[in-house]
Amino acid sequence: MPKHVLPAESRELVLVGGGHAHLGLLRALAMRPVPGLRVTLLAEELAPVYSGMVPGLVAGLYRPEESRVDLLRLATAAGARLIHDRATGLDPAARRLACARHPALRYDLLSLDIGSVSRPLPPGEGRVLPVRPIGSLEARLAAVLLDGPARAAVVGGGAAGVELAFSLRHRLGPAAEVTLLPGAGLLPHAGGAARALVRRALAGRGIAILEGAPVSRSAPGALLLADGREVPCDLALWTTGAAAPPWLRETGLALDAEGFILIDETLRSVSHPEVFAAGDVATMAAHPREKAGVYAVRQGPPLADAIRRLMAGRAPRPWRPQRRALALIGTADGEAIALWGRFALRGAWAWWLKRRIDRRWVTRFAELPAMPPMR
Ligand SMILES: Cc1cc2nc3c(=O)[nH]c(=O)nc-3n(C[C@H](O)[C@H](O)[C@H](O)COP(=O)(O)OP(=O)(O)OC[C@H]3O[C@@H](n4cnc5c(N)ncnc54)[C@H](O)[C@@H]3O)c2cc1C
Repeated sequence: MPKHVLPAESRELVLVGGGHAHLGLLRALAMRPVPGLRVTLLAEELAPVYSGMVPGLVAGLYRPEESRVDLLRLATAAGARLIHDRATGLDPAARRLACARHPALRYDLLSLDIGSVSRPLPPGEGRVLPVRPIGSLEARLAAVLLDGPARAAVVGGGAAGVELAFSLRHRLGPAAEVTLLPGAGLLPHAGGAARALVRRALAGRGIAILEGAPVSRSAPGALLLADGREVPCDLALWTTGAAAPPWLRETGLALDAEGFILIDETLRSVSHPEVFAAGDVATMAAHPREKAGVYAVRQGPPLADAIRRLMAGRAPRPWRPQRRALALIGTADGEAIALWGRFALRGAWAWWLKRRIDRRWVTRFAELPAMPPMR
């Protein structure tokens, strides 16, 4: 049987995780259901946060309810069963997904959009907060900020690290010390002029940058760098990049060298074509990209299209991600920095654009069209 033909009785689609691509898929199913397809959504959190709004949440510029999507509402509109639980394992030969509490789920098609986890924290007893899971970052941060730390650091030199440094400056006020520790280098994919602009913006907000060596240890009140320097710090946010959820190693799915699921151009596992994967958890074998929400968002429509076509007995169409994406880094002072490839510009217009994109994205899931009548 060709790999795109589903047997007649195969109609169980299990979605794991309410990640960005699955939100798009569920919205598409709400607008145009696929006849005969029973959909189950297994999700660990019922109100996932939109990644682009996380730094704004940390800064206190967005309210939590503005930045979250109501999964129950979306699943109901899509005619999907929602199970509030966590996937813990997979038996692809038996097509069964193990859950933490719920009995195992049988599937004909499976799709994983479960994001990534933080890279391991440095050893030591210092207060270091991983930014992932992003859905709980604001609550975890609020709990430790009750002490009002005077010296904060952000570890990680990517766009998320830079934006979080601006967010902490805004949240903690001008009296706090805020330091950015980008390790080997600030924004490694940006051009020299773009990096210089970001450096000026950080300096303008009184944010120190200590580059050149990774953090090797944490201690109460300090972070220790590999070159021996010591950075006074009561609270550090750890945003050094994405790692793969460890349980994938036991699934038998083909993984890349870092443990992310290898997928083809139809978003299906290269080893198990009945398994889709999207967002951070997936690596496109032919078109690897950095782990960013923008790519997860873009995968929603092709994922919906692929499932629709499979159900109609047709081959899914190949899809390619864009080569680069616009990154908008809010500086938490009414402006943002727009990064495009090696270039950067700063202005109030960029913050206006970012707010508009962020708000419109979340609103799309609150303003669902009426469901078509049952047939
Ligand atoms: C501080 C910060 C700011 C960022 N800002 C941006 C930005 O501005 N723009 C951008 O493009 N990217 C940004 N990113 C990157 C972005 O967060 C990720 O690339 C994006 O969230 C990935 O989306 P996803 O769909 O893969 O998964 P996620 O959005 O992480 O969603 C995965 C969902 O799956 C659930 N889940 C996980 N495991 C299981 C399980 N075993 N069973 C059931 N459910 C599970 C989780 O609870 C979660 O709801 C930022 C990252 C950080 C840390």
